[in-house]
Amino acid sequence: MTRRVVVVGADAAGMSAASQAKRLAGDGLEVIALDRGRHTSYSACGIPYWVGGDVASVERLVARTPAEHRANGIDLRLRQEAVALDLDRGEVEVRDHETGSTYRLGYDELVLATGARPRRPDVPGIDAAGVLGVQTLDDGEALLDELGRLDGGSRRAVVVGGGYIGIEMAEAMVNRGLDVTVVTRSAQPMATLDPDMGLLVHEAMEAMGIDVATDVTLRGIETDGSGRATAVATDQGTYPADLVVLGTGAGPETALAAAAGLPLGRWGGLVTDLQMRVFDTPGVWAAGDCVESIDRVSGNRVHMALGTHANKQGRVLGTNLGGGYATFPGVVGTAVSKVCDLEIARTGLREADCAAVGFAWLAVTVGSTTRAGYYPGAAPVTVKLLAERRTGRLLGGQVVGREGSAKRVDALAVALWNRMTVEEVAALDLGYAPPFSPVWDPVLIAARKAADAVRADTS
Ligand SMILES: Cc1cc2nc3c(=O)[nH]c(=O)nc-3n(C[C@H](O)[C@H](O)[C@H](O)COP(=O)(O)OP(=O)(O)OC[C@H]3O[C@@H](n4cnc5c(N)ncnc54)[C@H](O)[C@@H]3O)c2cc1C
Repeated sequence: MTRRVVVVGADAAGMSAASQAKRLAGDGLEVIALDRGRHTSYSACGIPYWVGGDVASVERLVARTPAEHRANGIDLRLRQEAVALDLDRGEVEVRDHETGSTYRLGYDELVLATGARPRRPDVPGIDAAGVLGVQTLDDGEALLDELGRLDGGSRRAVVVGGGYIGIEMAEAMVNRGLDVTVVTRSAQPMATLDPDMGLLVHEAMEAMGIDVATDVTLRGIETDGSGRATAVATDQGTYPADLVVLGTGAGPETALAAAAGLPLGRWGGLVTDLQMRVFDTPGVWAAGDCVESIDRVSGNRVHMALGTHANKQGRVLGTNLGGGYATFPGVVGTAVSKVCDLEIARTGLREADCAAVGFAWLAVTVGSTTRAGYYPGAAPVTVKLLAERRTGRLLGGQVVGREGSAKRVDALAVALWNRMTVEEVAALDLGYAPPFSPVWDPVLIAARKAADAVRADTS
């Protein structure tokens, strides 16, 4: 008998799940995927590079077109929004944005992959013309339209938010030739790093000509007579702006799930088991930015909205839905980003996280180079490691430096995943040749120093 799966949200998590389930189950599953937007299977991660001009066209950001999904047997329905869930009857109420009508769709299995909802600060003027978020391809198009409008005139961009989307958008605006200011409420940009590492990012951005204002509280957006943004008002003064970009973070998009009474965790994300089944709710599954995940270092549930997790969780979900078996074993908090030629990476816990969780930790920071010092192009890199006192267990790592720095974090992520000590990390057999690293890779130097510090620690 054919079972019907309804997938709500047809991007990374939803379409990974839909494709994998259909691949495994074939005609045994009828898969209907709904999305309220006009796009499917697109890379939001690529939007800053498209807006900045590194990626030539929006088509390059689309991994699989609607026609390709339909050819694979998935009934993909765009501009169709799930507006209510009836879990008792196994039905979704759907609004068709093409016709304005609503209809009910029965399901045997329901997949929620509704993603994240960008936070929009509740201040006067936030909806003014020229204030734009960065979440969807439509947002990217709107940003490009605004940039076109500014051609030939005054070109000042203020980016609100100093997280990874904020700094990537700052780079995009620099690449488009705008004067850029980043305002952030945190002590340093990239609050996912410790402040001492964030300071390196801050200094590098200033050296690139990007103004960075920290510890700033947004008060509102000032507008002209036509309702267009002219400045960003804060508790530290007013920053003139022809374009305001919001990079103010996002939380799980779970309003639909909450209204249906589904279990949400501390961060408002759906709570699932290892196979991505929503807890205590037979026939309902969830994956991607709308769920919380287990942090393997702290043991806590966290909301880590990243494409890498959305794709993996979707595949795990689809495997189970399609009759196979797979689990999503959690995250360690690895993320990489860049602003112009500065690369930024992190994994595991920050000092503040260690304190909150109850780990006793020590930290070491080392400066080195990305290549052998004598090899052309060798550039500075700073590595910070956190280790548990006494045991020496690696708890976290952060890397800030020039080209070739960021992906060094992957070695640390593997070490964290396997609960290695800094002593063990120091002994790892990492690759070496002058064009790629000094003979002692910066990660190994940092681990060795951390191991020394753990041994010398008597507290
Ligand atoms: C600018 C930017 C840069 C990023 N860069 C990176 C990066 O470098 N690395 C990384 O790992 N991650 C990055 N991310 C995060 C990554 O894009 C997300 O983690 C990923 O897209 C999550 O996939 P998802 O399928 O869970 O959610 P989404 O991609 O948000 O998809 C959810 C879909 O659900 C639809 N939807 C929601 N509610 C309903 C409803 N009721 N009915 C119908 N449809 C609905 C939405 O329209 C949307 O299409 C970036 C994100 C942004 C915005």
